[in-house]
Amino acid sequence: MSSQPQKSCPICDNDAPPRSENKAFPFCSKRCKAVDLGKWLGGQYAVPGPPASPHDIAQELTNKSD
Ligand SMILES: [Zn+2]
Repeated sequence: MSSQPQKSCPICDNDAPPRSENKAFPFCSKRCKAVDLGKWLGGQYAVPGPPASPHDIAQELTNKSD
């Protein structure tokens, strides 16, 4: 009888499954977790050109894995 409140992904705002069934928690997916990691790395390393938006990074990761 555990009805945990649904968390929403901080990246894409979709519903994120609970930690017990979602390794990427609190994100909705590995993709969004990677996007968040990319944001941190983006701040750590100097990247030439305009900063990529999280959505652009997600798009790129999706294209690569598919
Ligand atoms: Zn997400």
